[in-house]
Amino acid sequence: MGKTTGFMEYERQSQRERDPSERTKDWVDYTAPMTEDEIKKQGARCMDCGVPTCHTGTEINGSTTGCPVNHLIPEWNDLVYRGQWKAALEKEHEKNNFPEFTGIACPAPCEGACVLGINESPVAIRTVERSIIERGFEEGWVKPEPPSKRTGKKIAVVGSGPAGMAAAAQLNKAGHWVTVYERHDRVGGLLTYGIPEMKLSYEIVERRVKILEAEGIEFVTNTEVGKDVTEEQLRADFDSVILCGGSTVHRNIPAEGRELKGIHYAMDFLHQNTKSLLDSNHEDGNYISAKDKDVIVIGGGDTGTDCLATSVRHNCKSLTQFDIYDKKLSARDDEDNPWPQWPIVHRVEYGHKEAAAVLGDDPRAYAVMTKKFVGDENGHVKEVHTVNVKLRYENGKKIRDEIPGTEKVWPADLVLLAIGFKGPEQDLIKQLGVETTERSTVKAEYGKYTTNVEGVFAAGDVRRGQSLIVWAINEGREAARECDRYLMGTTELP
Ligand SMILES: Cc1cc2nc3c(=O)[nH]c(=O)nc-3n(C[C@H](O)[C@H](O)[C@H](O)COP(=O)(O)OP(=O)(O)OC[C@H]3O[C@@H](n4cnc5c(N)ncnc54)[C@H](O)[C@@H]3O)c2cc1C
Ligand code: SF4
Repeated sequence: MGKTTGFMEYERQSQRERDPSERTKDWVDYTAPMTEDEIKKQGARCMDCGVPTCHTGTEINGSTTGCPVNHLIPEWNDLVYRGQWKAALEKEHEKNNFPEFTGIACPAPCEGACVLGINESPVAIRTVERSIIERGFEEGWVKPEPPSKRTGKKIAVVGSGPAGMAAAAQLNKAGHWVTVYERHDRVGGLLTYGIPEMKLSYEIVERRVKILEAEGIEFVTNTEVGKDVTEEQLRADFDSVILCGGSTVHRNIPAEGRELKGIHYAMDFLHQNTKSLLDSNHEDGNYISAKDKDVIVIGGGDTGTDCLATSVRHNCKSLTQFDIYDKKLSARDDEDNPWPQWPIVHRVEYGHKEAAAVLGDDPRAYAVMTKKFVGDENGHVKEVHTVNVKLRYENGKKIRDEIPGTEKVWPADLVLLAIGFKGPEQDLIKQLGVETTERSTVKAEYGKYTTNVEGVFAAGDVRRGQSLIVWAINEGREAARECDRYLMGTTELP
């Protein structure tokens, strides 16, 4: 531990951001750089706890707390404080193949579990994490490291999201030949076509993909396994398969008027926006535009926030985000939600700040349930009808009672459904004969990742259901370990 009094001397400073009214004029990273001295002070705040609760990821009450990849957080905090950046980078890479993805976009369950957070602001762990890996790239320390020996075994990874990329990276390290199949035209899964450019740019994904390619991994895009590559081809060409196809079946709102034009899944909006932006700087016009529209985003999570930030950049006329939950407390409730649980508190994310800066107010409406959509004479949505609800539990089940007199009509020409995903697509899973759970995710035990089909493993959202980048990386790494054990009889992968 570098500075024993650091946590008393220095205030928490998390990632700086550009001015929200300025940054919404472009699609460039919304954050701003920090000085080396600022980052060192954040490292110095770490107390090197006897039980570093930040370091171990687990789930309590359905939320993640602590780091799922078991990052060596106290170690790299100390090294950063001492200015030993290269050693800090090595510690980061020991546990996480892609700290640049988590350093940018992880909600940081490590910070929720940080001991300093009991009576102070937690250590700005994610900010330190990001600074280490960026320094590594700037200094040229992150280089391809191809394995010295090849085993001759071949593995197909289906899906190039963080789970697939992590599995591929680890299996390649063990000397296997890895081919990653991706049905879209670009690699990265939801890192590329879910999270928008200003939060996590494709350049960051591509920078890592180039390193993985130079290490010997083959990425095959525009190729859907199950259609363009058949199950027989997989069996003939590969010794093992890892399913990392994500959890992409949309959740819908089966309300009256759902079929109207102008109502879209958030993912279609976000995917098309990023593709058009990357392909042609939006000149091809192949995206759903929010320009001059009254936009309603249904869903209070991260995807909804990404829709806000995207709509503001399109110059929408108005913007409202419906959250089915009540507004949360500003500080954690120590009785119901004690440390080290993930703090359930009101958060103001980048998209909320941007909407407020450009349109004048925080765009959220709370405890709002959509009742129906009403269209104009051309079959285009023009209104969303809602009612406020009160949540209660009956035998552990959520019941939402409508509050009489709270009915409201909202003008809308674009409605975006950001209410999550039901589970993975089933075609390939069925073709392979892989068993699923009652949630339609692939049945494979956490830590083992084996399915009922010999040689077929599963990791990430396809196994866990809709989750986080950091869990996808954790599962990809561990599935690689189990696959290596299956192929070689033993493994040295972590
Ligand atoms: C809009 C949005 C924002 C998010 N923001 C965050 C965030 O800020 N922080 C965070 O931690 N998490 C976030 N998440 C969640 C996170 O992105 C996912 O949990 C994570 O990407 C899952 O990784 P994965 O590799 O399992 O699957 P994915 O990232 O979904 O990747 C799966 C890939 O497999 C491909 N594929 C599927 N089937 C086939 C097939 N048969 N053949 C070939 N390819 C196939 C798909 O095209 C896709 O590219 C967000 C999710 C969304 C939707
Ligand atoms: S819990 Fe917080 S203070 Fe303790 S070691 Fe982890 S980051 Fe440092």
